[in-house]
Amino acid sequence: MKHFICQNCGSTVFFRNSSCVSCGSKLGYSPDHENMFAVHPIEPEGERPVWRAAGDASSNFHFCANAAHGVCNWLVRADDDQPMCRSCRHNHLAPDLSIPGNLMRWQRVEQAKQHLFYSLIRWRLPTPTQAEGVAEPLVFDLVGDVQTENGVKRIYTGHDSGLITINIAEADDDERERRRLGLGEPYRTLLGHFRHEIGHYYWDILVRDGNMLDAFRSLFGDERIDYGAALQRYHSQGAPPEWPGAFISAYATAHPWEDFAESFAHHMHIVDTLETAHALGLSLDVRAARDGSLKTDVAVDAYHADTFDAVIAAWAQVSVALNSLTRSLGQQDAYPFVLSRTIEQKLDFIHRLIRAQQVDAAPASA
Ligand SMILES: [Zn+2]
Ligand SMILES: [Zn+2]
Ligand SMILES: [Zn+2]
Repeated sequence: MKHFICQNCGSTVFFRNSSCVSCGSKLGYSPDHENMFAVHPIEPEGERPVWRAAGDASSNFHFCANAAHGVCNWLVRADDDQPMCRSCRHNHLAPDLSIPGNLMRWQRVEQAKQHLFYSLIRWRLPTPTQAEGVAEPLVFDLVGDVQTENGVKRIYTGHDSGLITINIAEADDDERERRRLGLGEPYRTLLGHFRHEIGHYYWDILVRDGNMLDAFRSLFGDERIDYGAALQRYHSQGAPPEWPGAFISAYATAHPWEDFAESFAHHMHIVDTLETAHALGLSLDVRAARDGSLKTDVAVDAYHADTFDAVIAAWAQVSVALNSLTRSLGQQDAYPFVLSRTIEQKLDFIHRLIRAQQVDAAPASA
């Protein structure tokens, strides 16, 4: 992610901040500018107060309607009549706030979703809403298990034709950790769930509808095998022992669609983390670099790299450094995964797929 500063006082501020810790300025994120703004009220009265960016008389905004719940710090251009921001307007079902704890769960889930949308907007990936009338709009249900007269109706996190459902129970650290251990996974986060499920969505849009099925099948396998039976087999037998050579995770072996979604999530993890390292001006001297060189500036601009080779080379070093740092803090590895050549080819395929549509779309800002 980019590095943001408060225009009022010059302090570093973070994507999730709604006010500057140093000077107290109100902060909002403008997805249209891809920037955080310190804002001040110019029309504080009325149903939709108008805010202006510090030092920029031409940028007037409303806050997203979900700011009233404390779940969103995104701005909506004042000339946009939508009450919701570019992330929240995709919500279909939001958590039931009459249930204790759900506001906190919604805040955490929405934070992860905004982080997802940050990248989708950076990539110029299509994010059609229901109002646009397209065949497969992008819609989110953010809900928990439902108590009915006959017991509890379980809600499953997943994707179905543009509808992404997230079970907000995993906003609770103990519940998410319980599931992670139960499934034997090395990594499980809310952001990871969003990045995985959106991978299924973009398989529909960029692979199936983008006539990329032959190229997809040559790398990921034939997705026409029975999906339900494949998942059942995975859950009863697990992954084949040789999986680490060709798959980013055990779950990726379940079905070519899951392999693609897992790989898509990792592409997003890598690009976002490298952008953060790049924005901070990080440079490393890691002797274990695969090409034998002794140093790297994280000079690669992952959002605009034509191929994934340079990205992977930088990532190899950054991920080693990251894991070393978190071990020093007594924490688990930040990135507990190994990338084989086959996995790198899958990531490169996804990178080219996204880049091709990015070039077709509106020019990306630097
Ligand atoms: Zn400030
Ligand atoms: Zn919002
Ligand atoms: Zn999946």
